[in-house]
Amino acid sequence: MERLRELLTGLMCSRVYRTEPHHRRDQPWYYNQVVIGIAPAGPHRLLTLVQELERLGGRARERELRFGPRPLDIDILLYGSLVLHAADLYVPHPRMHRRPFVLEPLLEIAPHWNDPRTGVPWRLYLP
Ligand code: ADP
Ligand code: MG
Repeated sequence: MERLRELLTGLMCSRVYRTEPHHRRDQPWYYNQVVIGIAPAGPHRLLTLVQELERLGGRARERELRFGPRPLDIDILLYGSLVLHAADLYVPHPRMHRRPFVLEPLLEIAPHWNDPRTGVPWRLYLP
């Protein structure tokens, strides 16, 4: 969180949510959290910076199993109202609308935000 403060100003943080693992159940529960801040960096630069932070947090992708445990995973869920489909970066995050462990913490700190692609309120995606 200290390092994230160097990348985002005016940081707002949700509570930390404990989430049961999907796909592979032979791993510990996850800790999920959503933060909102103002990013001086553009979206691609921000992705590089958060990936650097993941490495500092002990992440080594080449040693990982898909859907397996990882020490730190920082995804860019949204970037203002930007809609971006680049090879290495999709914004809004393409799976966020079907992940309660993303939507619940997001709605805690941004209850009135909408999907910039459709205008649909994020809260309507919750089961
Ligand atoms: P996941 O987060 O899906 O568990 P990774 O953290 O290993 O998996 O990310 C895999 C790739 O997803 C990254 O190398 C990155 O280029 C790509 N990616 C695409 N869109 C995003 C996004 N919005 N936020 C973070 N990574 C993204
Ligand atoms: Mg990720």
